[in-house]
Amino acid sequence: MPELPEVETIRRDLEKEVVGKRVKSVEATGMRTIRRHTSKKQFIGKLEGAKITGVTRKGKYLLVRLDTGDILVVHLGMSGQLLRAAPKDAPIKHTHVVISFTQGGQLRFVDPRTFGEMFVTTPEALEDDVPELAELGFDPIEEPMSWTVFAERLVAKKTKLKALLMDQKFIAGLGNIYSDEILFAAGLRYDRSSETLSTQEIRRLYRALVETLHDAIKHRGSSLADEQYRDLFGEVGDFQSQHKVYAREGESCRRCRAPIQRLKVGGRSTFYCEQCQV
Ligand SMILES: [Zn+2]
Repeated sequence: MPELPEVETIRRDLEKEVVGKRVKSVEATGMRTIRRHTSKKQFIGKLEGAKITGVTRKGKYLLVRLDTGDILVVHLGMSGQLLRAAPKDAPIKHTHVVISFTQGGQLRFVDPRTFGEMFVTTPEALEDDVPELAELGFDPIEEPMSWTVFAERLVAKKTKLKALLMDQKFIAGLGNIYSDEILFAAGLRYDRSSETLSTQEIRRLYRALVETLHDAIKHRGSSLADEQYRDLFGEVGDFQSQHKVYAREGESCRRCRAPIQRLKVGGRSTFYCEQCQV
């Protein structure tokens, strides 16, 4: 599932590629991706003729701003891809929505597993449509906070670190991959309780959080063998080659050579090093 670095990579690509473009026509193949709308016509009518004025991100949601005042909300779900294409490009299987621009070029939404979605709403209705946006925690890329404020919030939570990093109400946009990588970078175990951290450990965790995410964006996100993540140009990310623990079970730790451990809890895997994380 795309996490903050993957969604941010696409946001930055969209900013360069589609801002300033005007929607000429829209095709939707079914209602699954645009399920919040009552009909295809209703969805298409809100987009055709509109000019894209900006692209922002809230957690894992992309907010495409239109000159009509509306927002096109895009969530990639498990396997969604937003791809730039030319009209002459061969159709791609599992394409649900195609947006064509007056200046030429298209944006295609491809989603084999169909958990992703697209809908048009107003800024006023956005938080009613997606209540989790109102409760979203801080964004380490968009709105970095001082490590001392982070420390206060962390200690007050009294929660195990991995669960806390993945709690969208605490930090927006992290999932399984980056929480494991951040905890390795910080030298902290997934099951350490947040109130037991020393000042030095909190600073290390905060630095690991910010640095890991910036690094992952620099490498254009992670594309794993069993996952669908592609950037706007259909290219895979490169950060998986930098992973220290995620999906490296049994391989030797890049820092101490001990085998990386995998723990399965409730269908979710946690990867860590017994030696390097305390
Ligand atoms: Zn190690």
